[in-house]
Amino acid sequence: MSKLELLPINIGGEWRLGGGDESASLYPATGEVVGRLRAPSLADVQEAIEKADQAFRTSGWAQKKPHERAAVLHRVAQLIRERAEPLAQLQRLDNGKPISETRALVASAAGTFQFFAAACETMEETITPSRGDFMTMSVYEPMGVVAAITPWNSPIASEAQKLAPALAAGNAVVVKPAEATPLLALELARICEEAGVPKGIVSVLPGRGSVIGDAITKHPLVKRVSFTGGTSTGKHIARIAADKMMPVSLELGGKSATMVLEDADLDHAVNGVLYGIFSSSGESCIAGSRLFVARKLYGDFMERLTAKATALRVGDPADERTQMGPLITAEAKARVESYVAGAEAEGATVVVDGREAKFEGNGFFTGVSLLDHVKTDSKVYLEEIFGPVLAIVRVNSYEEGLQLINDHQFGNGTAIFTRDGGTARSFEFDVEAGMVGINVPIP
Ligand code: NAP
Repeated sequence: MSKLELLPINIGGEWRLGGGDESASLYPATGEVVGRLRAPSLADVQEAIEKADQAFRTSGWAQKKPHERAAVLHRVAQLIRERAEPLAQLQRLDNGKPISETRALVASAAGTFQFFAAACETMEETITPSRGDFMTMSVYEPMGVVAAITPWNSPIASEAQKLAPALAAGNAVVVKPAEATPLLALELARICEEAGVPKGIVSVLPGRGSVIGDAITKHPLVKRVSFTGGTSTGKHIARIAADKMMPVSLELGGKSATMVLEDADLDHAVNGVLYGIFSSSGESCIAGSRLFVARKLYGDFMERLTAKATALRVGDPADERTQMGPLITAEAKARVESYVAGAEAEGATVVVDGREAKFEGNGFFTGVSLLDHVKTDSKVYLEEIFGPVLAIVRVNSYEEGLQLINDHQFGNGTAIFTRDGGTARSFEFDVEAGMVGINVPIP
C-alpha cells in the first residue's frame, strides 16, 4: 500500500482515525492509491450517532431560526465555489470521471446548498382551519439524527443533495459515503464545520456498507435514512426501516430508455443518445441504456451512431477534451464486459465492442459497446449494467416503442426524439417514467 498518510474521519465532530479496517481510494484511471483511511469500528459508529443526538439536542442548530441556518448554508455554497477547482480535481481522482464532468458536479453541489438555504428561509408554515376558539398550525420540525448513504458515481453531488436539505431542516446528519469514494464527503464535512455548522451535527463514517451502513440504519437513534444506490440494497434498507417504523427515501437503479422516431432530426438524436448512455461512462442511474429506433431510419441512424460512438474520446480524465473516463473499479470493468459477452451468447450483434478498445496502464477502462438485435427477454436488456453499453431494438411504430418502454421494471427516466409536437406531448403523459426528455437526453 502507498505511503500516503492515513486520513482522519469525522466521528461525532472529532477528526481522528477510525478504529476499523484500512481502506483506500484508488484513481480509476491508473489504479494508484489517492487516499488511505481507517474505517470506523462499530464502537465509533455508536459514538458518532450518540454525539449526533447530543449535538442535535444541545448545540442550538435545531433551535436556530430558519434564516440563521440559511446563512450558514449560503456560506457552505460559497466555500464550495471558492474551492471549486481543487474539489473537482479531488473528485476526478476519487472516482475517475472526466474533469469536465466533475467541475459540473461541484457547481451542482454548491447550487444545491444555495437552493436549500433559500427554501429553508422562505418556507411558510400554515395556519389551518380551526375547529374551535383556538389557532391550529402546521409547522416543520427536524427529526433528530438522520443518515445519508451515498453511492460512488457522483459523490459530491449526491452528498450535497442529502446533506443540504437535512441540515436546512435542523437535523444532525451521519453520512456514509461509498467505501470506494470517501474523499468528497470528508471535504464537505470540513466545509460545513468552517461555515459554522456546530461540531457533531455532521459525521462522516466511510466503510463497508454491509457493516457500517447496516449498523447506522439499524441504530434506534437514527430517525430517517436517505439512501441512493442499488435496488437490492434499497430493499434491504426498506426492510430494516419497516421493522423500526422509520421513514426512508430510496433512489435506486435504472434502465432508462430513449425512443427515436422516423421524423427525428437525426444528428441531434444521435448526439442525444450518445450523451444519454456514454456520459459518466454509463455509470448513472438515468443512463439511457435501452434505445428504440424506428425501423425506417435504422440504417442511416446506425451508420451515424456507430461513427460517432467510435470517435468518442475515451481516456485520461484530467484531459479537458476527454468525453468518457474509466469505470470505478476492476470488478466493475469485468462485470460490464461480461454483460457484453453474455449479450453475444443471447443472440445480440455486437456492432461496437468496448472490450476491444486498447488503453495503456492499469486503469479500469473499457470502450463503448453498441448491441444490435437485442432480445427483450435477454439479461442485457432487462438488467441494469451501469456501464457504457447500449442495447438497441428496432420498432415499427411509436405505440410499439411506448409499450416496450413501459413494460420494464425500471422507470427512472426516458427521452423521445421527434419533430411532431403532438406525439411528444402524448409521450409525456403515456410513458411511465420519473423524468421525460423531449428532444434532449434523459434529463
Ligand atoms: P450500492 O452497492 O447499493 O451502494 C450504495 C451505498 O450503500 C454505498 O455507500 C454502500 O456502501 C452502501 N451499502 C451497501 N450495503 C449496505 C447495507 N447493507 N446497508 C446500508 N448501506 C449499504 O450501490 P452502488 O454500487 O454504490 O451504486 C450504484 C447503484 O446506485 C446503481 O444501481 C445506480 O442506479 C444507483 N443510483 C441511483 C441513483 C438515483 O438517484 N436513483 C443515483 C445514483 C446511483 P459500500 O459501497 O461502501 O459497500
